[in-house]
Amino acid sequence: MTEKRFKVVITDCDHGTIKEEENEFNRMGTELVLAQVKEEEEVIRVCKDADGLLNQYTLLPRRVLENLPKCKVISRYGVGVDSIDLRAATDLGIIVANVPDYCVEEVANHTIALILTLSRKTAFFDQKVKLNQWDFRIGIPIYRMGGRTLGLIGCGRIGMEVAKKMASFGVKVIVFDPYLQKTEEWIELEDLDTVLKQSDIISIHCPLNESTRHLIGEKEFQKMEKRPLLINTSRGAIIDERALIHALKGGLISGAGLDVLEKEPPDPANPLLTMENVILTPHVSFYSVESISELKRRAAENVSSVLQGKWPRSVVNPQVKGKTRATIPE
Ligand code: NAD
Repeated sequence: MTEKRFKVVITDCDHGTIKEEENEFNRMGTELVLAQVKEEEEVIRVCKDADGLLNQYTLLPRRVLENLPKCKVISRYGVGVDSIDLRAATDLGIIVANVPDYCVEEVANHTIALILTLSRKTAFFDQKVKLNQWDFRIGIPIYRMGGRTLGLIGCGRIGMEVAKKMASFGVKVIVFDPYLQKTEEWIELEDLDTVLKQSDIISIHCPLNESTRHLIGEKEFQKMEKRPLLINTSRGAIIDERALIHALKGGLISGAGLDVLEKEPPDPANPLLTMENVILTPHVSFYSVESISELKRRAAENVSSVLQGKWPRSVVNPQVKGKTRATIPE
């Protein structure tokens, strides 16, 4: 048997199959090992002669990275790279790559599913009909979608996809995104207060960071003049959950559709679990058979690109240029 030129280790992965990764690395004659390791010592033992890593949740701190002398690239299954010590990777010449856009369509469609379910009250009626209540009047009022105002907080890849699709329902789209200079001409860029004040539906699509944690709190709920529906498929902590519960109880908003919560899974006593005008899904927006398969294929391609002397499609630490361990034209 001929010796394989490179070795790639999957530190961990809960996807149930590694078919896409095998396809990619078999083609280039690279050895692929599914390790499923968590503890630092184990990670070092299994990965010390690896040329590249695929990583899901296993932590890769500086001490681990310093003990992987051959590692040229780490590719994360997903967008966030908080499992990897980025600065250490850069210092050591290791390229870190991610897959930022494998589920834009899924999250946008899930957002729209939550908007439609809440505004047409389909989940509410479904429960009532199954309890033998066949009466549309228990769900009134329901408003026409056309002509309503959809306010987006954050309008990057997912927000824009939601905007485009929702525009076909005849809604007016307004956006608060402090980093956008301009956008499509049919989208109005506004300040946060205007979005809170004018929207019938508010949907959150910004990242969670120190400036967006609890961006929607008690003060912001007070500014929502139109008793909007609030949708969050981004990250739970962007909304102050205590203030949200308060706003729902006080009728400041008319409902909430949440795929993400401050604490996942929620405590059984969380009041959101028993509110009729709240729909909850278990952080599932990203998922479809196709999105996972794309995620895995593209994470593997990131690694194989580097091993073949090319930059991967999405580099998280571009500062590594000029000092990479890989043989890539700079
Ligand atoms: P993106 O980077 O393309 O867009 C994010 C937008 O938010 C950018 O336009 C940015 O300018 C804007 N923004 C940043 N700070 C802001 C602030 N303080 N106020 C308002 N806007 C701000 O990201 P994306 O691919 O559209 O993803 C958006 C978010 O969706 C991600 O950060 C992630 O948290 C979430 N997400 C959730 C799931 C899920 O399964 N529920 C899956 C994928 C992504």
